[in-house]
Amino acid sequence: MLTKKEILEMKSDKPYITKRKIVIERLYNKDFGDDKVCGCGHSYYRHFDTYEGMSPIGCKYCDCITWHPIPNEEDKERERLTIEWNKKYEEEKQNGERIQIELEKNKNENTHTGGTEAS
Ligand SMILES: [Zn+2]
Ligand SMILES: [Zn+2]
Repeated sequence: MLTKKEILEMKSDKPYITKRKIVIERLYNKDFGDDKVCGCGHSYYRHFDTYEGMSPIGCKYCDCITWHPIPNEEDKERERLTIEWNKKYEEEKQNGERIQIELEKNKNENTHTGGTEAS
């Protein structure tokens, strides 16, 4: 949000208008708990460089980029169900296509043998 003063400044006929930039950085939170285990299996504090003013360098022991919680059972279950649903959907889609092909085949066979006029 711009303040009234900033809006006025932007409207004035200065040679330049100013732009405000917001920088968001992830910094070490001393209250979070150094030993809290990340989804990658390593402690929270391992994701910061103690020699570089606790800069968020990512996990020192693997290629985890940033601390993230371990997925809980509920999340795992949801993921499992999603995979299952997708599989079922794919199967149904393939079945549907197969039926479609069968129908096409039958139609062609009917036309080859003269077929029936009734529909
Ligand atoms: Zn991690
Ligand atoms: Zn790790």
